[in-house]
Amino acid sequence: MDIKAPRGVRDILPDESWRWAYVLDVTAKTMADFGHSEIHLPIFEQTELFSRGVGDTTDIVEKEMYSFTDRGGRGITLRPEATAGMVRSAVEHGLCAQGAASRLWCWGPMFRYERPQKGRYRQFFQIDVETLGLAGAVADIEVIALSAEIFRRLGLKNLEVVLNSVGCPKCRPIYREKLLAHFLTNKDKLCKDCLLRLDRNPLRLLDCKEPGCGAVADAAPAIYDCLCDECAAHFEDVQNGLNTLGFRYKLDKRLVRGLDYYTKTAYEILSGDLGAQNAVCGGGRYDNLSESVGGPHLPGVGFAAGVDRILLVMEEQRCSFGKSLKKEVYVVAQDDTPAVRNAALSLTHKLRMEGIPVEQDAGDALGKKRSAKAQMKSADNAGVAWACIVSQDEAQKIVVVMKNMTTGEQTTVQPEEVARRVKEA
Ligand SMILES: [Zn+2]
Ligand SMILES: [Zn+2]
Repeated sequence: MDIKAPRGVRDILPDESWRWAYVLDVTAKTMADFGHSEIHLPIFEQTELFSRGVGDTTDIVEKEMYSFTDRGGRGITLRPEATAGMVRSAVEHGLCAQGAASRLWCWGPMFRYERPQKGRYRQFFQIDVETLGLAGAVADIEVIALSAEIFRRLGLKNLEVVLNSVGCPKCRPIYREKLLAHFLTNKDKLCKDCLLRLDRNPLRLLDCKEPGCGAVADAAPAIYDCLCDECAAHFEDVQNGLNTLGFRYKLDKRLVRGLDYYTKTAYEILSGDLGAQNAVCGGGRYDNLSESVGGPHLPGVGFAAGVDRILLVMEEQRCSFGKSLKKEVYVVAQDDTPAVRNAALSLTHKLRMEGIPVEQDAGDALGKKRSAKAQMKSADNAGVAWACIVSQDEAQKIVVVMKNMTTGEQTTVQPEEVARRVKEA
C-alpha cells in the first residue's frame, strides 16, 4: 500500500497497547486516591486559546501548532497541550465558582509539529493533571507528590525532582532586567534563536540547549534574590513540604519550562535513562493563565506527563506491566457438521458471558472452514490454557474434550461443565 501514516505519528499496535492500558489503569487509580476527577476535553480548540494562553513568543505557538481555518472560517488548532483547555473548560462550566477548588485530570493525544525522534512524536499522548482554584503551596506539593506517586507505582527508578520558581508579574520584571543585562554582555556567545528571543523573553534563553548559550546561562544570575516576599515564601513552603514528605529534589535556576504561563513553582521529574529528552513529567503553577485568556482570576497548578516517554523508561528499566490479557480457552470444532459448529459457537459465547477470554475458529480469509488439526495448531499458537474440542458422540450428543495445554491431560465433559472447570483450575 502506498499510503503510510504521516511522518511523526505512529500506531499503537496490540502487542503494545496492553502496556498503555496498564499505565493508564495505575494512573487512574492514583488520581482517584489524590482526589482528581477525570475530564474529557475536545482535541481542537479556538486558536486564540493557545496564542493567548500558552504565549505568542513560545516555540509551541510560533512554530509547532497544527492550525487551520475550518469551513465556517474559524481559526482552529489541534491542542498542543491540555492545560489551557482545562482552564477554559473549568471557567466555561463554573467548576470553580464561588471559590470552589477543582482537582482534574485527563489524558489523550496532543499535537506539535516537532522534529520526530526517539520518544517524541507529532501526535503524542499526555496525562495531564490540574488543580484549579487553590493559591497555597499545599496544592503545589500535592501535585508534585501525585506525579511522583504515579511513577513510584509504575516502578520507575532513578528519578529526580528538579524545582525552581519563576516568580510572578511583580518580581519577574526585575529578574528579567538582570538577565537581559547578563545576556547582553555575552551577546557574542549566543545562538541565532536566542538573539531573536533576547528582547522579548530573556527567560527563555535559560533553557537553550546550544552549548554556547548553556555556558552563558549557567553563569546567569539566579531568580532567588529577585523573588518578592510572596513568591519567596511560597517557594520555601513548597520546599518544606517536599522535605516533610521525604522527596529528594534539587534546585535548578535554569528550569523555566517552555510555556509563558508559569508563575512561582516550575518543576520537572527527570529520568537518568532518557538521555537528552530526559523529563518524564513537567509542570508548575500558572496563576494568571485564566486571566490571559479572558477568564476570572483562577490560580492553578498542574503537570503533564508523556505516556510515550514513560513507556520508554519502563521498558529500559524492565518494569513490570502487570499481566498481559491472555486468552484462556480456544474452542475447536471437531468436524464441519452444523450441530458441531453451532455447539462450538454457543460454547464460545457462553464462556465469554462468564467472563472467560475465549478465541474460536472463524474460518480463514476466504471464508473457508479449517480442519480440527489446523484449529489445534491455532490453539497452540494462541498460548491458551485450554483447548475445548467440541464433537458429537455415538448417541449424537454434544461433548467437549478439555485439553490442558500445559500437561496434555484430556477430560471429556458436558458443555455446561466447561466454565466451572476453567474457573476452578
Ligand atoms: Zn513574585
Ligand atoms: Zn541559544
